[in-house]
Amino acid sequence: MGRIVGIDLGTTNSVIGVLEAGRPLVISNSEGSRTTPSVIGYSKESELLVGQQARRQLVLNPKNTFSNLKRFVGRTWEELDENSLNVAYTVRANEEECVRVTCPVTEREYAPEELIGSIIRKLIDDAEKHLEESIESAVVTVPAYFNDSQRQATRDAALLAGIRVERILNEPTAAALAYGFDKKSASKVLVFDLGGGTFDISLLSISNGVFDVKATSGDTQLGGNDFDKKIVDWLADEFLKEHNIDLRRDRQSLQRLSEAAEKAKQELSGLSKTPISLPFISTGSNGPLHIETVLDRRKFEYLCKDLIDRLLIPVETALNDSGWTADDINDVVLVGGSTRMPMVHQLIRTIVPIEPSQSVNPDEVVAVGAAVQAGILSGELRDLLLNDVTPLSLGLETVGGLMKVLIPRNTPIPVRQADVFSTSEANQSSVEINVWQGERQLANDNKSLGKFRLSGIPPAPRGVPQVQVAFDIDANGLLQVSATDRTTGRKQSVSINGGSNLNENEVNKLIKEAQEKADFDRRKRASIDQKNNALTLIAQAERRLRDVALEFGPYGAERQQRAVEVALRDVQEFLEINDLAELDLAVSALQEALFGLNRRISAEKRVDNNPIQGIKNTFGSLKDELFSDDYWDDDPWDYNPNEGKRERDYGRKELDRWDNDYYN
Ligand code: ADP
Ligand code: MG
Repeated sequence: MGRIVGIDLGTTNSVIGVLEAGRPLVISNSEGSRTTPSVIGYSKESELLVGQQARRQLVLNPKNTFSNLKRFVGRTWEELDENSLNVAYTVRANEEECVRVTCPVTEREYAPEELIGSIIRKLIDDAEKHLEESIESAVVTVPAYFNDSQRQATRDAALLAGIRVERILNEPTAAALAYGFDKKSASKVLVFDLGGGTFDISLLSISNGVFDVKATSGDTQLGGNDFDKKIVDWLADEFLKEHNIDLRRDRQSLQRLSEAAEKAKQELSGLSKTPISLPFISTGSNGPLHIETVLDRRKFEYLCKDLIDRLLIPVETALNDSGWTADDINDVVLVGGSTRMPMVHQLIRTIVPIEPSQSVNPDEVVAVGAAVQAGILSGELRDLLLNDVTPLSLGLETVGGLMKVLIPRNTPIPVRQADVFSTSEANQSSVEINVWQGERQLANDNKSLGKFRLSGIPPAPRGVPQVQVAFDIDANGLLQVSATDRTTGRKQSVSINGGSNLNENEVNKLIKEAQEKADFDRRKRASIDQKNNALTLIAQAERRLRDVALEFGPYGAERQQRAVEVALRDVQEFLEINDLAELDLAVSALQEALFGLNRRISAEKRVDNNPIQGIKNTFGSLKDELFSDDYWDDDPWDYNPNEGKRERDYGRKELDRWDNDYYN
């Protein structure tokens, strides 16, 4: 089995980790950061941008830049609340009530899973570069409170990125794994995860490498964004009062407000007040309008008091479900950037009267836990056992629209549960199995996971046929439902995937498209690289010829100089007519010719350096460069606009110093 990586696919930021020599570590992306913004965009030229690059164009290109997509994953249109729809890009429902994101510049619509797939692909690409091996599978984390559709949809997103999901792992469970995988003593842990878009809470007992999740709860529509929005609304309302303009109606203003709000929020985690300055935010009848104000922490906390109240509910639910009291808890693990807010910190202290653990990094702990789980699956880490639970009750709709629960929430998984049902009318030949997930008494108030029909039931009075319905939840928390008519043995079973934004055909089509596109992109990239390399080599060769001519005269190394010239012309010619096969050969020939020239010059120098025999070098810089080991490296020299001048004026050592001063 190849290496399995661990991916924390966050609403705001994503992180990838791997187990190396038994220790989990986070892999930096190609920009050098350990977290990658979960933002995807298309540039004005329709080029796909992922992560920091996409984040950078949020304000200037809001319609083509997509953030917070996780809020849409695996959700139908009618499940979305107004808050989630409050984004600067266009979201709409297609004919099947699935969420689609509109991208004007590519003139296409995307399923949220498809865009999120691009984030996964980037994480994987960067990790492959770092590990120097290809990666085919991953452990991907999801909020514990994700329902079946959201889990299926996450798996679809990975599939679209060409990655097999070995395990879907709950984020707080991952955090607990990271926290406790090398601890020996037994403890009861509360994991409190408040990220950008979701809130998750888990209670676990850890003892001798066995992780038992006792209860999970949360709110998939509550996170740091909601705190930002309080500031946005405050700013926009004040502005509306004063100038009678609603800034929220303009995409660009809204995006600028959101960025300023997030920045202010983060600053208020460390400071007691912070200035907010948004020049030229709009235009009124008397010219441009600006926002210049100060927000203090008390005001901010006042604005957010309902959010703090909402945080309490899942904590209480989880404590109730686990049968523990707050006093039983030995450690609190804080996860997610939003736990840095002092008001959140204080809230937690009022629930559990101990100082939270400082041993984990709230931004990375989930990915680290995913890497640990990957290590367990690949067999690299032994003596660790993880027992997770299902976050929401699963059941069937029975007569009168009632929800009959088959698997209550917080049941350890994997689990199989069956029950026998019958018909409600005489001679009923088929039954509809309607599967629901949630805690409400009436099925309709919960989330429908899909339905199917078991037919061919022989005629019988009502209540006589016996239909056994079985629910299977695997270790990923994914559900499979089957129904069997006990008289005929007829069986019908389905993997539930209702509510996911993509059906199977669409997924397959997109995978095919992505593969074709990847091939095309790879070929295109390879040919661009090849041409760029040729151009670099041409520049090097020209410089070398010029330098050699300067130092030794046009005939100093006659044969080798001519060889380089000939090879150089070939490369230029094949580049011009775009013959890539011949170009490859010509490039090799030129490299060889240059090598020959350099060797000849070196020999010449050795003779030169002997004071008795030769002419003295006139130009120190040339001599040093020719002999330096890093001659083939692209050094800052190559990009120096005054190259010709400095080359003659300074020696190489001085040049370096000059460069350092210049760039620092
Ligand atoms: P996710 O798991 O949703 O990807 P993260 O754990 O990366 O999210 O947290 C992102 C959220 O944390 C954002 O809303 C961000 O504004 C917030 N955040 C980051 N640092 C701070 C801070 N110092 N104070 C308050 N909020 C912060
Ligand atoms: Mg997170």
